[in-house]
Amino acid sequence: RAASTGSATTSDAPRTPPTLSSPEKVLFPGDTLTKRDVADYYTAAMPWLLPEIAGRPQSVIRCPGGIASACFFQKHHTAGMTLVETVRLKEESGSGDYLVVNDAAAALELVQFNALEFHPWGAHADAPDIADRIVFDLDPGEGVSWPDIVAAARHVRELLKQLGLESFVRTTGGKGLHVVAPLSPGADWSVVKPFAHAFAQGMVELDPLKYVATATKKFRKDRIFVDYLRNGRGATSVASFSLRARAGAPVSMPLRWEELGRVKSGDAFTLRNAPARLKRLKAHPWGDYATLQQSLPDL
Ligand code: ATP
Ligand code: MN
Ligand code: MN
Repeated sequence: RAASTGSATTSDAPRTPPTLSSPEKVLFPGDTLTKRDVADYYTAAMPWLLPEIAGRPQSVIRCPGGIASACFFQKHHTAGMTLVETVRLKEESGSGDYLVVNDAAAALELVQFNALEFHPWGAHADAPDIADRIVFDLDPGEGVSWPDIVAAARHVRELLKQLGLESFVRTTGGKGLHVVAPLSPGADWSVVKPFAHAFAQGMVELDPLKYVATATKKFRKDRIFVDYLRNGRGATSVASFSLRARAGAPVSMPLRWEELGRVKSGDAFTLRNAPARLKRLKAHPWGDYATLQQSLPDL
């Protein structure tokens, strides 16, 4: 298939997903969840997941032997993928063919390749240098309680609001939360990245006992790392509705801010309980995320 992006969705009939091989293979041994369970989850979640990933370069975490064996982060297109499309993007030296999913069949082809996690860029394949969102990834160090993480997410929201930016929250399926602000029109990474860094440093100045803005693990005890590094060309963050390759088969779940206080942990939503929530959802928990017009202030 020729390198292209954004074309598959315009075809008349939906493309057929590949046949799932080894559907009985157990991918989450502690939870006895099989490859078929994973494919069924993604099929059910697809109307929600697809808009999160479509048209963006993305990486996947593949676990051919399940989560108890070696998993790997894959960013480039590889042989045998016929439904997943590609976009050639420049890299530090040379260029690479990145994975692009434009429809359900392509996403399910990645599942057939034992992809468990979807990690899109904060940019589209046709404008890889333009961020269309900013993500603050709150990473709790040892000793940080869940209510502290929730408070930090609300703090990020307040501070962004003071800068004229609405933001939205999701569980990661791991330990923390992501606070995401859409940018429309988008902005070049060369502007967004320093903004995100300065914002994180500003939080540390406000409360140096609570926050750190350096990735060094030894400074993280009892503090939350405001991980601004998701905001750069080629950086990814987990897609809302993606599974995580972790025990319990947790799912990254977008929330309404009013719901956050009722959520017990970053991995509270799982393959087992997420489908019921998705069925009940009448609208995306992020409301007007997709239509908000907002851009970065000058700092
Ligand atoms: P948690 O809440 O447990 O922190 P998380 O998804 O935020 O979950 P992080 O370790 O903070 O996990 O990573 C943030 C994002 O950075 C991930 O969602 C992923 O997209 C990206 N990332 C993580 N590890 C790698 C890696 N080895 N290579 C490339 N990108 C990565
Ligand atoms: Mn994180
Ligand atoms: Mn992080």
